Amino acid sequence: MADPKGFLTTGREVAQTRPVGERVKDWNEVYVPGSLLPIISKQAGRCMDCGIPFCHNGCPLGNLIPEWNDYAYREDWSAASERLHATNNFPEFTGRLCPAPCESACVLGINQPAVTIKNVEVSIIDKAWDSGDVTPQPPERLSGKTVAVIGSGPAGLAAAQQLTRAGHTVVVYERADRIGGLLRYGIPEFKMEKSHINRRIQQMRAEGTKFRTEIEIGTDIDAAKLRRRYDSIVIAAGATVSRDLPVPGRELNGVHFAMEYLPLANKVQEGDLTVTPITAEGKHVVVIGGGDTGADCVGTAHRQGAASVTQLEIMPQPGEDRNANQPWPTFPMLYKVTSAHEEGGERVYSVSTTHFEGDEDGNVQSLHLIEVEFKDGKLEQKAGTERVIPAQLVTLAMGFTGTDQANGLVQQFGLGLDERGNIARDEDYATNVDGVYVAGDAGRGQSLIVWAIAEGRSAARGVDRFLTGASALPAPIRPTDRSLTV
Ligand SMILES: Cc1cc2nc3c(=O)[nH]c(=O)nc-3n(C[C@H](O)[C@H](O)[C@H](O)COP(=O)(O)OP(=O)(O)OC[C@H]3O[C@@H](n4cnc5c(N)ncnc54)[C@H](O)[C@@H]3O)c2cc1C
Ligand code: SF4
Repeated sequence: MADPKGFLTTGREVAQTRPVGERVKDWNEVYVPGSLLPIISKQAGRCMDCGIPFCHNGCPLGNLIPEWNDYAYREDWSAASERLHATNNFPEFTGRLCPAPCESACVLGINQPAVTIKNVEVSIIDKAWDSGDVTPQPPERLSGKTVAVIGSGPAGLAAAQQLTRAGHTVVVYERADRIGGLLRYGIPEFKMEKSHINRRIQQMRAEGTKFRTEIEIGTDIDAAKLRRRYDSIVIAAGATVSRDLPVPGRELNGVHFAMEYLPLANKVQEGDLTVTPITAEGKHVVVIGGGDTGADCVGTAHRQGAASVTQLEIMPQPGEDRNANQPWPTFPMLYKVTSAHEEGGERVYSVSTTHFEGDEDGNVQSLHLIEVEFKDGKLEQKAGTERVIPAQLVTLAMGFTGTDQANGLVQQFGLGLDERGNIARDEDYATNVDGVYVAGDAGRGQSLIVWAIAEGRSAARGVDRFLTGASALPAPIRPTDRSLTV
């Protein structure tokens, strides 16, 4: 156990963020660099090393949290990093971006603030990179088997790293021009700087994983050819089809899916564009959708110099405390103030958009909304509550409906879909097609990075068993596991 009295003597402290006025002028991560290390060992010391560590169950990866808390408390950073990597290929991603269901499940959280597990995680991995502890781990021998991974988001990368280390020859195919999936082109720089992806890719290349960008499977290479060329295939193509809002005026200029808007801002940061063709500068911006994608649009619009930013959500505002049907240790739906919300803008709940209006050039100028309420479990509009707000840029961030089928990927492989339209798989992540596996959002539906990594690791074990008859790779999670978490 870290510090037997830590949870009694030390209060919870988290990473400091930079002043709003400073950070909206740049795209760097919002945190004060170096602010965590001086406090983190004491924070890790708050861990009680519980007999039944509910944090394990809260984490889809089954992270060995009390073990690395203990090492972090003792400042044995190398041992902490080894324990962290035992269950997670990319803790620098989850340590920055995860909503931390482990913290919702932490036993300390029953009657006082939970251990700051996510901040301990990111401190361990940042320290490990700085001190050269993260090195390539190439396999000792090659199996002679080949695997293609389709998609380079966290699920594809985790599967690829596990399978490469198990001795298989792995090629990752990505239709975009850079590796990383939504980590690269969805999540803005201010939430995670892309240098973190780049150095992992370098490590993976040194281990032997090969990457092919700007190749879309189904279009540039068909499924039959891929199956002939590889012994097994992992589909980690994400759930990238955005949910639309088919109301009058949807066709106006300036109404965009979030995933048309956000990647362009990231491309400016990558140096591909000098300015983005879709900018919030000087405009009244309305973001439709109250989730993480919406928050990323809000933060991006602030940095582009929006005149105002309004975020609309159809559901009622969640409470700040757990309610009776979301008791500890479940992951509750709470009112969240993200770094983007701290930076300004207005959030409006329980409203639905009825239509957009534009000028004579076809550019959106305003959005009409109406208040809604739940009656007998059904969402109903409240008569007389219509109003109009200015809107010169609208982003639709209302979730995703599934894997892209327009490129023929699903049809060419002959893949079965489940009742939610995701690619169906069994308990080993195998699809209905022999040797073809699926991991991450493609099989689960739009979810979280931590689930994508967990599924990529588990699918890798399924593939390894398919290729060799047995596997020493871990499988943290089955597709049907929902655990205590999101
Ligand atoms: C804006 C935004 C912000 C988010 N923020 C967070 C967050 O803060 N925390 C969090 O935990 N989760 C967040 N998420 C969710 C998280 O990013 C996803 O759950 C996760 O990235 C899924 O990983 P994946 O590997 O399954 O798919 P993806 O990351 O979607 O990667 C799939 C990849 O496959 C490629 N691809 C698709 N089809 C083909 C094909 N036919 N051939 C070749 N390549 C193909 C795509 O181009 C893409 O690069 C966010 C999502 C969005 C959209
Ligand atoms: S539940 Fe909380 S206090 Fe208990 S072992 Fe996990 S992190 Fe430590």
